[in-house]
Amino acid sequence: MSESDEKTEYLDFIREAVAEDLRIGRFKEVHTRFPPEPNGWLHIGHAKALFIDFGVAQDFGGKCNLRMDDTNPEKEDMEYVEALQKDIKWLGFDWEDRLFFASDYYETLYELACKLIRKGLAYVDDLDEEQIKEYRGTNVPDKNNITYTPPGRDSPWRDRAIEENLDLFERMRAGEFPDGAKTLRAKIDMAHPNLLMRDPVMYRIRREPHYRTGDRWCIYPMYDFAHPLSDATEGVTHSLCSLEYEIHRPLYDWFVRNAEVFPSRQIEFARLNLSHTVLSKRWLLRLVREKRVSGWDDPRMPTIAGMRRRGYSAAGIRDFLGRIGIAKTDSMVDIQLLEHCIREDLNAHARRYMAVLNPVKLVIENWPEDQVEWLDAVNNPEDPAAGMRKVPFSGTLYIDRDDFREVPPPKYYRLYPGNQVRLRYGYIVTCTGYEKDPESGEVALIKCSYDPATRGGDAPDNRKVKGTIHWVSAEHAVPFTGRLYDHLFEAERPMEVPEGKTFLDNLSAHSLTVEQDAKAEPAVADIAAGTTVQFERMGYFCKDPDSTVQRAVFNRTVTLKDTWAKLEKRLQDQA
Ligand code: ATP
Ligand code: MG
Repeated sequence: MSESDEKTEYLDFIREAVAEDLRIGRFKEVHTRFPPEPNGWLHIGHAKALFIDFGVAQDFGGKCNLRMDDTNPEKEDMEYVEALQKDIKWLGFDWEDRLFFASDYYETLYELACKLIRKGLAYVDDLDEEQIKEYRGTNVPDKNNITYTPPGRDSPWRDRAIEENLDLFERMRAGEFPDGAKTLRAKIDMAHPNLLMRDPVMYRIRREPHYRTGDRWCIYPMYDFAHPLSDATEGVTHSLCSLEYEIHRPLYDWFVRNAEVFPSRQIEFARLNLSHTVLSKRWLLRLVREKRVSGWDDPRMPTIAGMRRRGYSAAGIRDFLGRIGIAKTDSMVDIQLLEHCIREDLNAHARRYMAVLNPVKLVIENWPEDQVEWLDAVNNPEDPAAGMRKVPFSGTLYIDRDDFREVPPPKYYRLYPGNQVRLRYGYIVTCTGYEKDPESGEVALIKCSYDPATRGGDAPDNRKVKGTIHWVSAEHAVPFTGRLYDHLFEAERPMEVPEGKTFLDNLSAHSLTVEQDAKAEPAVADIAAGTTVQFERMGYFCKDPDSTVQRAVFNRTVTLKDTWAKLEKRLQDQA
């Protein structure tokens, strides 16, 4: 960044702070990192962090590392490491050759811990977990109900000699003590108003094989110790993280300062919260474990893998991440904004096809027997380069049940006895009657006559035909299963539950509806799994990998109705 850039106005407070650091010479370059813990799959909240970490580095000509923050042997797994990489790549973020693992720093971290012991700034404690908690103290309300934090108590082992601490720490590593018998703690201040600064634990003994280091270690570093020193080890200038780490910042700075390492700087931003969604790996894991969803990549999950399977595009997701901005206080984003961004991107790029989700037969009684006409259809009106295709039209079609009424409600312009509609790309037809299934009482067959002069949908006599409906030729139809999704949680804030209930009680009963009998035009047979298309009037649909040669499965990505755009317009009109 040159002198002349000094007055550049940045979009957000993080870029402002980074620019200032460069200007005053605190750092010479910008180096960020994205540090997921490989204990779950990437979700849209992580994508926000990625967007910020990679975006800030890119804007300042810097680099962004991908670091697996894997210092907890209990929950981490290679399966997660691979899934994380796949999803990050798919979103369009490139860490190049800078993939790192905190578990590669165990030796470095151990040395830094010894350094702190030698400086008299860390000690081995014999108190157990419960006692440490008790000695630390808690926040309590005073008589005016204002919380304050009375000082904690020093551990009786706090003033062990440096040599003794070094010896005990080495023996902790060598496996001489049982799990939980000792910890290594930073010697800071047991009266500090921030409880995290009251001699936090740096290492615990845990005999649990780690997915990368196996049983080489039986002591594992805690997050607050490992994270700043991993950042420093990589020369990370700006350690960008979500707001819940703000209270950890003094500790971050304490470790960096006292270990005398590269002076990484932590800056926090607001977490992404999304309506009708939970965004914590802990809760998502529970949904998976308890089989409330089909897996981490269930299309209703807010995971990147779920969204991809649902048919969301990476460009649409990135557009959303750009629009929500970066703030210093937490807020909730309306999921309709995400859906709006996806819809906009798909509108520009998805090919159109005709498909009927809930079919009913329509017979054109004056159609020449066995005649098939191949009509011209537009692949994408937003993109002329997408070209045209042929769609077969015949005397027996399927239309959607919802496009016919025995008795039309007011302003219903689709089919009912005596009314005319335009069949998309085809002819104008008039409903002449219908038949019902005597057992179910459902409409089983709709009878029509067509006007041969109206091919392409134009009426030569300028007669007014208000409704246009889509259709599929019965003999050419490709059968498929349609999965229609709705929000996983009915409640806008699923985590807000009354006494005795859990977020699981907020799960929606109709988040998935399956249409087993759907029919599509023949070109749909050639769509590759993972491709998202528009079924005209029905929404965007993505072909699921569960599809077989015999039967395709399509997941509805989003409907066509854009409630967000309407909301935005209403707000603009009010302003
Ligand atoms: P979770 O709350 O889902 O368990 P986590 O914070 O424990 O997430 P990590 O793997 O530690 O998961 O997160 C990696 C990075 O993603 C961290 O820098 C964290 O700040 C960020 N992050 C996690 N959730 C969100 C969110 N909802 N919004 C923005 N950033 C997030
Ligand atoms: Mg975390």
